[in-house]
Amino acid sequence: MTCKKPIDKKTGFDISEAFSRFDQRNEIYCRSEWDEEIKSKKATAFFGGHYMPNARARKADGFGQKDYALRNATWHVTNVLRDLRRKSDDRKEGFFDTFTAQDDGWPEPYDFSSPAEATGNLRRAAVSMGVGLLGVCEYDERWIYSARYSERAQESKPVDIPEDLPYVIVIGEPMDIDLTATVPSALSGSATGMGYTHDTVVLLTLTQYIRNLGYRAVSSMNDSALPIPLAVQAGLGEVGRHSLLITEEYGPRLRLGKIFTDMPLLIDQPKRFGVREFCDVCQRCSSACPPKAIPTGEPSRTAYSISNLNGVKKWTTFAEKCFRFWAGQNSDCSICIRVCPLQSRLQQMVQPPVAKSCGNEVAQCHAAGRHLLQ
Ligand code: SF4
Ligand code: SF4
Repeated sequence: MTCKKPIDKKTGFDISEAFSRFDQRNEIYCRSEWDEEIKSKKATAFFGGHYMPNARARKADGFGQKDYALRNATWHVTNVLRDLRRKSDDRKEGFFDTFTAQDDGWPEPYDFSSPAEATGNLRRAAVSMGVGLLGVCEYDERWIYSARYSERAQESKPVDIPEDLPYVIVIGEPMDIDLTATVPSALSGSATGMGYTHDTVVLLTLTQYIRNLGYRAVSSMNDSALPIPLAVQAGLGEVGRHSLLITEEYGPRLRLGKIFTDMPLLIDQPKRFGVREFCDVCQRCSSACPPKAIPTGEPSRTAYSISNLNGVKKWTTFAEKCFRFWAGQNSDCSICIRVCPLQSRLQQMVQPPVAKSCGNEVAQCHAAGRHLLQ
């Protein structure tokens, strides 16, 4: 496998020979199941708290019964799909495994006159489904996990993304800005839950549409591949100091999904709009992070633990500090998203996303957005 590719010049990814693909078993959530260093009663209670009888609601503002009621309801649809084949087939779909809840499509591919026509059609269809952002990049094996995680065996298992699907459609679904603003609270987790729900609905619907057109398509949310580098390559945004994707339209306030396909599509180009330079001087996320999990210095190749990616020069967070904080407060946290100045309401004035391919007005709108951010 080549660790460097020509697209790195456009994304700014600085990848050394020490690079190795990420094994999902080393993700912090997986480690909370098998790694004695991360496993704890608090971690178990944190996950269990996503179901009302175990929610441990308390009197503190934002952590009451109504707050957990909404937070847990927003996860419900995603959880139902996640659990469809969990017991029967050891598949935790959307998190450890690709989605399989698709019907057969048309036997022959629809004859688009060109990739441009196919891409325009796809974008219009995605808008009708409620997509937030959509970009397309080439399949890149560097970002495919070296292995998936088997919940049953608590071991690695082979990835099942076919290598002959040349394109990856990356989607982003925005998280509600007002709910995000309530962090620290259990209520703020509702923004995450609904982000995943919208992700799930759009992923399954768009994947079925592509299959109905006669092409192959596999939909994936947090499973099977690192979504952020694919999103950068698909032109959705840049990576910030907090290690999250920052987009012009929603800042870091979104959830990502991807569809692997052979539908003939136009590739988007990575875009740089000053995130790296802004983060060089802004430390708001580092300062605001309660457990100090976000670095203050320059991007580096330092991997703090097995939960970090090797060989990529970037800002890397301390996954253990972050997760222990979540478990300790019995709710996930998005303080680094809330405080990031690149997610201000002004960005909502920037053109809604997918229409970006529609013409001049949007170009003007993007320019206006950049101006406001400067
Ligand atoms: S989610 Fe919270 S704890 Fe984790 S890095 Fe962001 S601010 Fe820190
Ligand atoms: S808070 Fe500042 S340093 Fe952190 S990601 Fe946002 S812009 Fe970058």
